[in-house]
Amino acid sequence: MITPLLEGNKRFVSEYFEKEREFFRGLAKDQKPTVLWIGCSDSRVPVNTITQTRPGEVFVHRNVGNIVASNDWNLSAVLEFSINHLNIPDIVICGHYGCGGINALDDADGEDKYIPIWLNNAYKARERVDEKLQGLHIDMPKEDRMKLIVEENVRLQLEHLQEYPFVRRAMQAKTLNIHGWVYDMESGEIKVMKSHKNRQQPS
Ligand SMILES: [Zn+2]
Repeated sequence: MITPLLEGNKRFVSEYFEKEREFFRGLAKDQKPTVLWIGCSDSRVPVNTITQTRPGEVFVHRNVGNIVASNDWNLSAVLEFSINHLNIPDIVICGHYGCGGINALDDADGEDKYIPIWLNNAYKARERVDEKLQGLHIDMPKEDRMKLIVEENVRLQLEHLQEYPFVRRAMQAKTLNIHGWVYDMESGEIKVMKSHKNRQQPS
């Protein structure tokens, strides 16, 4: 199963790396990414492919459900390094429709041990959507409801992001902008979200 990966690497070296040797030599010395991407681990949402970016352009953190958890030292270190050392000016949180992590918000009674704990940082997105739909007496097809929860989860995680003091400070100093996006696997397109708590306009 993993042999194709190593064969792919051989093709990468002979067909791509060799032709771009100078580019990769420069990259080997330093990186100057301009975006931190917080996305889902889903194999169908590969950031460099869907944004047509090259190595060196995007600093990446991916987890199940593109979640910003306050008790996540992994992401905390990524944020600290991105903002305080790499001086990255933009952070994108990108969700995607058809997200298995978000679907699992409806499946808290399953046998999984760790996924429900991880999703504690996202249940509020489902609650907000369900409260809104109930308030409006809307009975929505499951698929459409899940899309709304995917979008609300991105908004929620943007809020979590702003709970980091150094993120807030960088935003106030106008050296950092944060953005919420959703990737649609059926069209290949990225939808730009508006965040009600984000004072700066996403662009
Ligand atoms: Zn996902």
